[in-house]
Amino acid sequence: MSLSDDLKQILRPEQVSINQTVLEHHSRDEGYYTPKQPDAVVFPENTEDVVKVMKYAYAHRVPVIPFAVGSSLEGHVIPVNGGISLDLMRMNRILEVRPDDFLVRVQPGVRKDQLNAELARYGLFFSVDPGADASIGGMVATNASGTTTVRYGVMRDQVRSLQVVLADGEVVHTGSLAAKSSAGLNLTGLFVGSEGILGVFTEVWLRVYGLPEAVIAARAVFPTVDHCVQASTAVMAAGVSVTRMELVDDVTIAAVNRYKATDYPEVPTLFLEFQGNARSVENDVAFVQEMMADEGCQSFAVEQTEEARRRLWEARHVAALAVRASMPGKEQMVTDVCVPLSKLPDAVRDARNVMNELGVPGALVGHVGDGNFHAILLVDPSNPEDLKRAGAVNERIVDRALQLGGTCTGEHGVGVGKRKYLDREHGASLRLMKAIKAAVDPLNIMNPGKHVGD
Ligand SMILES: Cc1cc2nc3c(=O)[nH]c(=O)nc-3n(C[C@H](O)[C@H](O)[C@H](O)COP(=O)(O)OP(=O)(O)OC[C@H]3O[C@@H](n4cnc5c(N)ncnc54)[C@H](O)[C@@H]3O)c2cc1C
Repeated sequence: MSLSDDLKQILRPEQVSINQTVLEHHSRDEGYYTPKQPDAVVFPENTEDVVKVMKYAYAHRVPVIPFAVGSSLEGHVIPVNGGISLDLMRMNRILEVRPDDFLVRVQPGVRKDQLNAELARYGLFFSVDPGADASIGGMVATNASGTTTVRYGVMRDQVRSLQVVLADGEVVHTGSLAAKSSAGLNLTGLFVGSEGILGVFTEVWLRVYGLPEAVIAARAVFPTVDHCVQASTAVMAAGVSVTRMELVDDVTIAAVNRYKATDYPEVPTLFLEFQGNARSVENDVAFVQEMMADEGCQSFAVEQTEEARRRLWEARHVAALAVRASMPGKEQMVTDVCVPLSKLPDAVRDARNVMNELGVPGALVGHVGDGNFHAILLVDPSNPEDLKRAGAVNERIVDRALQLGGTCTGEHGVGVGKRKYLDREHGASLRLMKAIKAAVDPLNIMNPGKHVGD
């Protein structure tokens, strides 16, 4: 019997697919890496289904690749050795909201916007805000972050507890619902960011927050990207509580204007947001406006209405797609380094210089409040010269970040694309990571060929 016939016996036949379009959809993510189709796609509907699939896969040594929205950027979900693509998007229920504890329990296929729509009914929100409407399971697996990290932290700061199905089908729970604990090793922290190589998350307890009384967004325009970055580090040094502080360069703004029919000035800009009670927010905005003027800001526009604010953040969220759409036929190679804040101006300047030097088209955006920025490099994946040049830019940007004490990936994760940098970044502790992977998944069936796995 074939793999899909076996799986149809374990689950219901309609939970297994070898349809060409479905296989195609599960062969790649949003990165530029060469796709490869899985042998079958399976759609579990509950934890028991996942356990059955894992037990089968373990017994037959079949690779299993957890798949959610597929918005990752480093080839995370490509079944490089074939096997089962385990699509968790049918597990999309919000199981429990506990407003008094600021906690929520969800299945992994719940999407970020879906969760926020539900939480709003309780006066709550979930803080992590990547550009794509990703799933909670995917965000846990990549330790995602985004525009609000400067205030609320990354995914690892929000996950209280996980239900995980291990490679052999055993179900374990990590963490507790307490705000802190000194009991045992931090397995929750270990699973967050594990990119499907250690187990499958089937339930997630998340920390959530009360909706703020007042929110104000603003745009601060500067003559150069360098000015933007210097200004953002000055704001951080002053200890002002910004909720979002995003660098958007002139190339990106021009692309967004075309993509979304907006009319923002096509110059380097910081998009900002402040949250809190009305009086404190107004004070913060006035203080930052003054400070920005000292840093060379040419115009500071406050977005007055909720609609204008929504448009602003939508523009930021579609930035990468807008840049890609500006050169039809090209794919995006997105760098993701993160450096200590004081080194950010150096790192961003070097990135622009190397893009110009090697003639690679692209744009710069960044969550500059936390030292993380992206060069969106446009490449034709079928053109080896193009790939080589963009690869060289990527390499130089990562080299520089590592020299400055930073990391090759602040939020997108390792996938297949960043594996080559791990040795340089982690040295001997990479061996420890590999030993943990081997202990948890001795047959190497969980998302092989990714992250620290072989
Ligand atoms: C336009 C755009 C903007 C983006 N902006 C940001 C950003 O600002 N910040 C950011 O951090 N990322 C960003 N990303 C990257 C991407 O959205 C994140 O990495 C996201 O967390 C991936 O979630 P997903 O649901 O798409 O997961 P997928 O891409 O489907 O999977 C990602 C990884 O998670 C694993 N996985 C998925 N579900 C589970 C599960 N239940 N159990 C175990 N492993 C699992 C997969 O095996 C894979 O390794 C952006 C991507 C795009 C396309």
